[in-house]
Amino acid sequence: MSPVKTLKTDILIVGSGAAGMAAAAAASDFGVSATVADDRNAPGGVLNQCVHSGFGLGRYGKEMTGPEYSGEEFRRFADSSAVYLPGCRVLSLAADRTALVSNAEGLCRFSFDECILATGCTERSLWSLSAAGTRPEGIHTAGEAQEMIELGGYDTGSRIFILGSGDIGQIMARRFVQLGKTVVCMAEQNGHIGGMKRNQDECIRAYDIPVILNSTVTEVHGFPHITGVTLHHIDSGIDELIECDTLITALGLEPDKTLAEDLKTADGYPRWLHFCGNADFVHEIADSASAQGEKLGITVAGRILNKRKEV
Ligand SMILES: Cc1cc2nc3c(=O)[nH]c(=O)nc-3n(C[C@H](O)[C@H](O)[C@H](O)COP(=O)(O)OP(=O)(O)OC[C@H]3O[C@@H](n4cnc5c(N)ncnc54)[C@H](O)[C@@H]3O)c2cc1C
Repeated sequence: MSPVKTLKTDILIVGSGAAGMAAAAAASDFGVSATVADDRNAPGGVLNQCVHSGFGLGRYGKEMTGPEYSGEEFRRFADSSAVYLPGCRVLSLAADRTALVSNAEGLCRFSFDECILATGCTERSLWSLSAAGTRPEGIHTAGEAQEMIELGGYDTGSRIFILGSGDIGQIMARRFVQLGKTVVCMAEQNGHIGGMKRNQDECIRAYDIPVILNSTVTEVHGFPHITGVTLHHIDSGIDELIECDTLITALGLEPDKTLAEDLKTADGYPRWLHFCGNADFVHEIADSASAQGEKLGITVAGRILNKRKEV
């Protein structure tokens, strides 16, 4: 077997979503080398599946769809000297400031001075709740369903139950109605609906989505495909069987720090490791993820330039 080739970059950025692209473009303006690895084949991350408008008002002063916003950000990124590596998954990071990367040609290693994780976030799944029952087909997180429908061209069932009332759940509720499906109910364990007011108005109220507050799913029915759920009304203790052929969960997002896990010590993360965008905290709007990436790119480039002055 041939030895794994090692490539060198000043800054390795993992993820080419809104945050990673902005960080790379900003850092490379300062004359440092920045390399962006992303496991998808196109830049933009989650933006590509957000075909609705509502992006870019703060940063560009006009309403765009997610792919349009991504296109604007990519233009700036492509004009910079940053190197973009699509289809490259970073498998691990090591304390000696190297990363093991996998792509279609095999494995390679990157040696870097600083690393920025712009890896986005993960969605909490149904199985993070203590719902009983089997694990039938027809259960998806809201982001997964969005990716399947908007990018994969797949379909779901026609009677949709949505558990959780976060932004992505609300956006998908509207999308399902637009696709001619019935949203039988959106259930929320709290006494109020979640997400941004804009989404509550434009997705839930405008599309008459039935919302049941103070309720949760305690059991899933059907096998091999879901046929219904038990909806538990928290205040009254009453259980109700609701028939559906698709269960969508919108239970919240968590920063994806997987690559950093093994590097964390009692003192925290190594000083060369940084986070931005949803990998740091969940940003409601893309403008905010881009702005944070840009600011971090400048800070990290400054760290490298300062180190150069010292030697
Ligand atoms: C459904 C939905 C609707 C939204 N609606 C709006 C809206 O209307 N208006 C608005 O302004 N904002 C909206 N947002 C928020 C905004 O889109 C996000 O906050 C922002 O795009 C996040 O960017 P990011 O770069 O942090 O992460 P992401 O876009 O998730 O990018 C992370 C990238 O890292 C890659 N990656 C992860 N791990 C690895 C690895 N190990 N190796 C290589 N690559 C890796 C991923 O594949 C991905 O491409 C919405 C978000 C969602 C999910």
